[in-house]
Amino acid sequence: MIEQAAGARLSCPRCGARKLYRHGRVAGLQRYRCVGCAKTFNSLTGTPLAHLRHKTKWLDYLDCMLVATTVRRAAKEVQVHKDTSFRWRHRFLALTKHDRPARLHGIAEADELYLLESEKGARKLDRPPRKRGGAATKRGISDEQVCALIARDRTGQTLVFVTGKGPVTKAQLHQYLPPALDHDVLLVTDANAAYRYFAREAGISHEFVNLRTGVRVRGAIHVQNVNAYHSRFRFWLDRFYGVATHYLSNYLGWRWALDGQRISSPEVFLRTAMGVFHT
Ligand SMILES: [Zn+2]
Repeated sequence: MIEQAAGARLSCPRCGARKLYRHGRVAGLQRYRCVGCAKTFNSLTGTPLAHLRHKTKWLDYLDCMLVATTVRRAAKEVQVHKDTSFRWRHRFLALTKHDRPARLHGIAEADELYLLESEKGARKLDRPPRKRGGAATKRGISDEQVCALIARDRTGQTLVFVTGKGPVTKAQLHQYLPPALDHDVLLVTDANAAYRYFAREAGISHEFVNLRTGVRVRGAIHVQNVNAYHSRFRFWLDRFYGVATHYLSNYLGWRWALDGQRISSPEVFLRTAMGVFHT
């Protein structure tokens, strides 16, 4: 499967040449030698999965990830050490998180999701925090919170950007949204002024709902789809007992893969983790 996935686009990771010799087998994979530069490599060289061991357990592990099993439970289920389980999770997500639609069409809702910043645990193994204090000390949105900007069109295509600590800024909207939106998109947001100024400057059609006045829906103008996505993400994330901010984009990508069953089998997951995205 690994070799099939890499198949058609196999080329030398050093010089890009496609003329190769077969050069024995190592750890279950065909090894190749580049005709041009003599570098040896296999189908996983240059991917986040290179040098991971126990390949026969990968599909079972990815099966656990499809139901979003915790690190510890997945470790138990496929019989690997919990540190291995943690490493695998993030290696499998490293490219998976880049599988996303190119552009949103029609009506696109955008809204920010704020999560409490968590410095702890570059290695966090899904356990309840030992110390109490899972609440922000400052009120409102502060630099204790990390912002994920989520945009979703009415066909369900979704894009996610981790913009950093604190409230989203107009400059960040300029950075992330224009490349992700069709020119004739109608952007719908809440009343946050950053969106208004951004849309005006970028020449993007924009409508907003003023949630503070209690009006949540004006015909097609609402942010219910993107807010439902937020809720699903938060609910799903709960099982991990808070994730390190460093890995937030991995979790957003993971959730994206599961939402709407974008990735529905361990085989598809494996190909995606190798950077081979199905369209
Ligand atoms: Zn080469």
